[in-house]
Amino acid sequence: MDDLEKLGLEVSKETREDFVNFKVEPLAVVYPKNEDDVIKIVNYARLKGIPIVPWGAGTSLTGAVACQGCILIDMKYMSNIIEINDVDWYVRVQPGVNLEYLNKKLMERNFFLPPDPASFFLCSVGGAVSNSSGGMRGVRYGTFRDWVLALRVVLPTGEAVRIGEPFRKNRAGYDLVHLFTGSEGTLGIITEIWLRITPLPKENLTAIIAFVPDLKSTAGIIQDMRRGGVLPEISEYIDNEVVKALNSALDARLKESEGGLLLLRLQSEDAEAMKEILKKWGADFTVLSREEWERMYSLRAQSALALKAISKEMYVEDIVVPVSKLAEAIERINELEAKYKVKMPVIAHIGDGNLHPNILVRDKEVADVIFEEVGKIAIELGGSVSGEHGIGVQKAGLMGEQLKLHNGLKVLEIMRDIKRLIDPNGIMNPGKYVELAYERARASNP
Ligand SMILES: Cc1cc2nc3c(=O)[nH]c(=O)nc-3n(C[C@H](O)[C@H](O)[C@H](O)COP(=O)(O)OP(=O)(O)OC[C@H]3O[C@@H](n4cnc5c(N)ncnc54)[C@H](O)[C@@H]3O)c2cc1C
Repeated sequence: MDDLEKLGLEVSKETREDFVNFKVEPLAVVYPKNEDDVIKIVNYARLKGIPIVPWGAGTSLTGAVACQGCILIDMKYMSNIIEINDVDWYVRVQPGVNLEYLNKKLMERNFFLPPDPASFFLCSVGGAVSNSSGGMRGVRYGTFRDWVLALRVVLPTGEAVRIGEPFRKNRAGYDLVHLFTGSEGTLGIITEIWLRITPLPKENLTAIIAFVPDLKSTAGIIQDMRRGGVLPEISEYIDNEVVKALNSALDARLKESEGGLLLLRLQSEDAEAMKEILKKWGADFTVLSREEWERMYSLRAQSALALKAISKEMYVEDIVVPVSKLAEAIERINELEAKYKVKMPVIAHIGDGNLHPNILVRDKEVADVIFEEVGKIAIELGGSVSGEHGIGVQKAGLMGEQLKLHNGLKVLEIMRDIKRLIDPNGIMNPGKYVELAYERARASNP
């Protein structure tokens, strides 16, 4: 610690927890103010052989920031918006900038950055890029991966590089930008980011709240929506347990109904088609005013916080299945609830097949078993064990299983080799994600 202070760095000694209570017990927390500081930290850690873990806002849900005996690099001071370019349509930022703040500044200029993880009011842009976070607008606009143009990165060897170009069409070389996006702090420390921005929609979109008979019929609604070529900006589902949590934790005063509710935001033509689909499935729906929509959007974003307020022990699942398999996935999740007699309130980016059953159970061992079983449902249905929350330590075994089964062990081996090539000393957020998934997959039966 003294050594780091002697390098002119701000240092503290503290322990932390991430959002889902993974322990972060570093030797020291260091707060770089610029890229040179980051290089100093990396060179120090490299020479001493100490692991480094970057920290954005710690809203990770998978143990991606968990560590014992590491140097934790807290990016909070590197939070400037460097440039908003309204001709080339990009924004250039430091990683510590808060996502909600960034979008507020962009919207003042009639632009926005669409990916909106429900933690947008808490999370850093660097964390969201490193996690390739998704969110509520993902059904139309994809995840962060679809919006990153270029990055500056301090590699684990202490060298700083820029990868990518600040424009959209660029075929020069392997796509390293997408390799680093979603790399969960295992390949380097991002110090600058160029993100694509887009104009705010010209039309006032139509917002609908629909009380659906049950989650299975919601799957039917979404499948009909896709068949009909309807592409919403937002299609989010929360079940009645989540509604109850919002009412009790945040005094939301929402109508409680057995089947839960669907929130939709669409262009006007699509909205008319959607209303017909909702009628067909017996959903009770209302068009929301702008103010009502903003309140519902904010409540939806706070759904996980509301659940956490009613149950400190909470394990947040994140699986994706092909939309055609939604009903089957939901049925199997319901069966697990009955089998283990646990509550698993579901929050879902349902339009893109991304389900978050939240396992509310005290006993961690039981939670782990259910967690694995939910992940296996995704694998068996040809889906993925993570759509947006990432892998960290929590999902490494499941990721290993998915890749081994869907892609083959060779693909995991290539990923492990990439990690070794970029991080030869194994100091960047080690023992997680690809490394751990490879180990687990090799150790498991064929
Ligand atoms: C209430 C709640 C709702 C959420 N909803 C969503 C959702 O809808 N969609 C979704 O995708 N996720 C969601 N999440 C998960 C999480 O918030 C997001 O993935 C978020 O974008 C992470 O940002 P962060 O700044 O907190 O990153 P952190 O948790 O601090 O870090 C995440 C990962 O990025 C790495 N990292 C951070 N900064 C850097 C950097 N500068 N360079 C290299 N690596 C770095 C870390 O080491 C870690 O591996 C939610 C979380 C919460 C608590």
